Amino acid sequence: MRLLFVGPPGAGKGTQAQRVAEALEIAHVSTGDMFRALDPETDLGKRVKAIMESGGYVSDDIVIEMLQGRISQPDAEKGYILDGFPRTTAQAEALDEFLGEDGLDRVVLFEVDEDRVVQRMLDRGRADDTEETIRTRLEVYREQTEPLVELYESRGIVTHVDASGSIEEITDRVLAELE
Ligand code: AMP
Repeated sequence: MRLLFVGPPGAGKGTQAQRVAEALEIAHVSTGDMFRALDPETDLGKRVKAIMESGGYVSDDIVIEMLQGRISQPDAEKGYILDGFPRTTAQAEALDEFLGEDGLDRVVLFEVDEDRVVQRMLDRGRADDTEETIRTRLEVYREQTEPLVELYESRGIVTHVDASGSIEEITDRVLAELE
């Protein structure tokens, strides 16, 4: 099973992707986690860290190459949840090309109101989450990533999930939708 979890930053999709991947015994593929794991002493690590701190997106070339390498790993054969990729039209096109005929099975869209998103991100207290970068991240999401939802809607594979409530409640909701 190949799934994509999408939603504004702070909607809790990373937490849910991890929990749902565990429940379904498939891989959790998070490009954000992959970037955070880069050695900050390397050139690439330094460049990526600066971009993440600004709230912008890492360039498509870098992300696409990294993602393709990751989903070619043996543990991804049993299926995976993509968390944070694709985020741009170019990335979605690259994914389509890479997956070929049998593309994504389902896209889970996490819906949450913006005030709650900002509060969640501030509570999370991550280094790249200052109030200013949060606002930038929401804007970039709206401009570059939200349009992708329409693409997947046109394929009839989008499931909308209310991302409010406890972590456990949301996981149950997602699993029920995927059944
Ligand atoms: P996330 O943990 O998914 O919120 O990602 C954290 C940051 O990593 C984002 O704000 C981007 O700077 C970068 N990033 C993660 N995934 C991508 C992607 N698919 N395209 C571009 N930048 C990304």
